[in-house]
Amino acid sequence: MIELTNESMSKHTTFRTGGNAAKFVIPESVEELKAVIRKCKEDNEKYLVIGNGSNLLVSDRGFDGTVIQIADKLGRITVNAEEIYAEAGAMLSAVARVARDNSLTGMEFASGIPGSAGGAAYMNAGAYGGEMKDIITYVDVIVNNEFKRMTCEEMEFGYRHSAAMEQDMIVTGISIKLRYGDKDKITAEMSELSKKRVEKQPLEYPSAGSTFKRPTGHFAGKLIEDTGLRGYRVGDAMVSDKHCGFVVNVGNATSDDIYQLICDVKEKVYAKFGVELEPEVRLIGEFE
Ligand SMILES: Cc1cc2nc3c(=O)[nH]c(=O)nc-3n(C[C@H](O)[C@H](O)[C@H](O)COP(=O)(O)OP(=O)(O)OC[C@H]3O[C@@H](n4cnc5c(N)ncnc54)[C@H](O)[C@@H]3O)c2cc1C
Repeated sequence: MIELTNESMSKHTTFRTGGNAAKFVIPESVEELKAVIRKCKEDNEKYLVIGNGSNLLVSDRGFDGTVIQIADKLGRITVNAEEIYAEAGAMLSAVARVARDNSLTGMEFASGIPGSAGGAAYMNAGAYGGEMKDIITYVDVIVNNEFKRMTCEEMEFGYRHSAAMEQDMIVTGISIKLRYGDKDKITAEMSELSKKRVEKQPLEYPSAGSTFKRPTGHFAGKLIEDTGLRGYRVGDAMVSDKHCGFVVNVGNATSDDIYQLICDVKEKVYAKFGVELEPEVRLIGEFE
């Protein structure tokens, strides 16, 4: 297991911001993962499990506990007919490639989401009309220091929500069910969706994807644009001028800059439209 101290979270988040984690560990097996969590609980130490850090805003004051990164050492992918089992650390893009190589259709929607299988299940990530809950059959978790297999129903998936959020579950792996299809069509669909992302999203800058959840009956990006906030800045944090739903780091933004920008956007959109925007990005640590 890799164990580091005072590790900058800016290296582990796609916003490229955040202070230090007092401890930063990368377990190489689910047993090691379970042991780390047990130890943190025994020592009464805070812990945070992360995947690829693509939906995180970590405070500039850091995280005063142990960050446990579930990465490629815990990222095996196995195929059994139409089912794929992915350990939590497998990137969705890698799972999607395996699906394509095995002529399995149904997860093209997720091929461009830059998260891990575990993070995607935790968040019920989705795009282009699909969500993880549509393909997940079960999720393996550690809860109360025990391994448990949760059915899709038990995970209580909703829009960017899962039971893992309330019940302190650590996802160790997911099983997804796809269908046999035409490999050329799957490949074409994935490249089409990837092209759309490149065209519409500011992928040239660090970000955490859509900053806000979609409010019922609206699109966050459209509300932000119609409030006149395209290109609005706090330091080097900016409402993307390519896609107003994204906050981007155009240089040396701090997490405080990004947080202040999020607060300003929320306030201004509420003042203009009376709609409460809620961050999709997970805030970690203290913000003022
Ligand atoms: C350019 C860009 C585009 C994006 N597009 C999309 C999109 O189309 N759709 C979408 O839904 N999201 C999108 N996102 C956001 C993000 O990729 C997803 O939310 C993704 O599922 C997060 O996975 P992660 O592994 O990076 O999780 P992290 O960011 O590391 O963590 C996110 C949350 O999940 C928890 N978590 C992570 N792994 C585990 C685990 N194994 N067990 C328990 N909890 C865990 C963390 O504690 C945290 O609360 C985008 C982000 C970027 C940067």
